[in-house]
Amino acid sequence: MIADARSRAESLSLGRRLKRNNALTALACGALPGLLLSRLIHPSLFAWIIGIAIGMLWANAFEYFYHRFLLHRPRSSFGREHLLHHSMLGQPEEPVHTTFGSSPLYLAILFATNGVVALAICWLLHIRLAPGILAGFSLYLILVEEILWRIHMGEWLPIGMNWVRRYHMAHHDIASGRFNVFFPLFDYLFGNIRPEIEQTEAHILAQAAVDSNSSPGMLSSLEAALLWAWMAIITVGVRYFWQSGPKG
Ligand SMILES: [Zn+2]
Ligand SMILES: [Zn+2]
Repeated sequence: MIADARSRAESLSLGRRLKRNNALTALACGALPGLLLSRLIHPSLFAWIIGIAIGMLWANAFEYFYHRFLLHRPRSSFGREHLLHHSMLGQPEEPVHTTFGSSPLYLAILFATNGVVALAICWLLHIRLAPGILAGFSLYLILVEEILWRIHMGEWLPIGMNWVRRYHMAHHDIASGRFNVFFPLFDYLFGNIRPEIEQTEAHILAQAAVDSNSSPGMLSSLEAALLWAWMAIITVGVRYFWQSGPKG
């Protein structure tokens, strides 16, 4: 088993390198194209601020849906990697499985698919928000990976943010809720801040094992509507974008 082969020190070094490479990939695939695009379309300061806010909210929604419906499918490749994140808690190998993206290539694909949709929507609507949105994706990804790392490694968190450690560990205790890491907006919108923290801690005392078979549960009608709308926008936007091409 690979997990037995690595010491904690080796895993820490590997995990830090993966986190750094993911951050560089996030900058190269989000903020950098955003900056280059801004040289062409010259967004205002207001468009930058609104774009970054939309990009971060978009990433928060993506984190929620991706974690809830893909990472918690044990038979998918996404699920197998995430299962290691859950099952390696407290093990020497833990740091290697403490990033949101399992590799820079994987992150690049996530950025490309979300980035194409953001570009298509902004181009169709004639708005200059795409540079900010791309930068917002990068900022969110770097933040989520850094905070996730600090939660798991017991490292310092900014003042007022110690609650996120308890929040995320409650997801490890009972994995059917709390899918956002540090900004539980979509957990709140879809009623997934559950069960109560005290219940999760009681649960871990009673059953000191990760709930790896937790079901992602049924989609609520609001979630289903949002997912379908999202997919429809992606399909229409990407088709229109690729068929028409940008004008002027
Ligand atoms: Zn975790
Ligand atoms: Zn999880």
